[in-house]
Amino acid sequence: MSGRLAGKVAIVTGSGSGIGQAIAIRFASEGATVVIDYRNHIDQAQETASKAEAAGGKSILVKADVSNLADTQNLVGQAYSQLGRCDILVNNAGIEKEAAFCDVTEADYDAVLNVNLKGAFFLAQAFVRRLRDAKLPGRIINISSVHEDMVFPNFSTYCVSKGGIRMLMRDLAVELGPLNITVNNIAPGAIATPINNKLMDNKAQLDALLKNILLGRMGTPDDVSGVALFLASDDGAYVTGATYFVDGGLIRNYHEQ
Ligand code: NAP
Repeated sequence: MSGRLAGKVAIVTGSGSGIGQAIAIRFASEGATVVIDYRNHIDQAQETASKAEAAGGKSILVKADVSNLADTQNLVGQAYSQLGRCDILVNNAGIEKEAAFCDVTEADYDAVLNVNLKGAFFLAQAFVRRLRDAKLPGRIINISSVHEDMVFPNFSTYCVSKGGIRMLMRDLAVELGPLNITVNNIAPGAIATPINNKLMDNKAQLDALLKNILLGRMGTPDDVSGVALFLASDDGAYVTGATYFVDGGLIRNYHEQ
């Protein structure tokens, strides 16, 4: 198949839903074979695979909880054993838990940090080890958040995880540049996905948020997937160590209510 990612293999974590699903379908439509990672919902992963196929692309499904080291290693291993290569890693899987700082439990802290930060860290390690050994180039794209930079009261664990991803990206860009592996973040603002169901069901809260977004609307998963495609394609070959904000201007215009 032709396309901007023809012949490439891409892992997209958490791609049964939301932003990850949109990236998987967009990559498949551009000729990549996509490794669709899911944790709990095989039905959602199968939906992504059907849409990827309808877009003209190929995919395989792999069940992997990114917070589990063995699962991350198996995820990369499956890409190689089933598809023979792995060129692009999108660390997308993420969760958030709301709690005032004084009420954060150890379990909530571990859950958020283990998925959002530890998962991305060790999956990137498994991905890079293979490329280093084979002397091949690669692309790492982390879906961080405006909260890699911007405060989010009552979501301290989320901010810590996304701030960590910001520094992981910068550090790895330096360490992996000589291997021709680029590392970049996409920092979405408010995107209409299931993670925001509570917000979207609360009109007053949503209206207050929309006033802070320069473009006056929530983003769509495809607002994010286009930037991911750019970073994964030849057009993004000379981009590394950067965060791309995809937030309708939110980060430039935030006021506490
Ligand atoms: P979403 O629709 O809730 O999707 C998150 C996906 O991650 C789900 O498919 C979920 O699978 C998967 N996942 C969670 N924990 C996992 C684990 N341990 N292993 C593997 N997969 C796991 O949310 P989304 O909005 O698309 O979020 C995607 C990423 O964008 C996240 O990193 C999020 O922090 C970031 N982001 C989103 C927004 C936004 O406004 N939507 C803004 C900034 C950043 P299960 O259903 O099986 O748990």
